[in-house]
Amino acid sequence: MKKERIGLFGGTFNPIHSGHLKAAEIVQKRLFLDEVLFIPSYIPPHKKYRGIADPHHRLKMVELAVRSFPRFVPSSLEIDAQERSYSIITLGKVKKLYPRSLIFFILGIDAFLEIDTWKEYERVLEQCFFVVISRPGFHLGDAGNVLGGEIEGKMFLVPEAEALNPDMLDKYRIFLLPINALSIASTEIRKRALKGESIKSMVPGEVEAYIKENKLYQS
Ligand code: ATP
Ligand code: MG
Repeated sequence: MKKERIGLFGGTFNPIHSGHLKAAEIVQKRLFLDEVLFIPSYIPPHKKYRGIADPHHRLKMVELAVRSFPRFVPSSLEIDAQERSYSIITLGKVKKLYPRSLIFFILGIDAFLEIDTWKEYERVLEQCFFVVISRPGFHLGDAGNVLGGEIEGKMFLVPEAEALNPDMLDKYRIFLLPINALSIASTEIRKRALKGESIKSMVPGEVEAYIKENKLYQS
């Protein structure tokens, strides 16, 4: 039987926005993922982390945002743990939940360029596939220089607008996926919300309404 393919998309999601959704949609289609798990990180409600909405708010916004996407699944895996999680731990939990599936760790090139700061990144890289997507302001090609070029041989640049050839899964571990990423960042959304400016074109309507109702990002 063909193995199920699961995408793991983590982030602060403070808040989730249309850039996340568009990127995940493209990845899901081009890599034929059966499900994409959206996993907001747990960051304790604490003065030190001012500006980061409470975990339950960030999870709720993810739930609202993915509702109309049948293959997207909100996951409280990290939030339920009530402590900040490392990718290696989260990946382990996802692999336990989906023991017979292929796991694809989805992230933007901005995040991938910092992989050397992750705990046990070598193990994370060994234990799943990676899908690295474009992000405005960053160059996908810079991925080749990560870790001193050590893992460049494991990378495959998926040709523009093409679906991934399944044979490539036997040869490569890291797939660079050029996409027309939206130029949207949560930081910008928080700034606009703080100034009372519209965020309409940046988040789904339900998320915009939730932010208003709960007066998020207003101080
Ligand atoms: P912030 O400005 O607070 O850092 P963000 O918009 O970068 O927020 P994150 O929650 O930090 O959102 O990102 C989660 C993941 O989504 C990361 O892997 C990031 O690279 C990716 N990502 C965020 N925004 C986009 C976008 N517009 N297009 C493609 N990928 C994105
Ligand atoms: Mg970010």
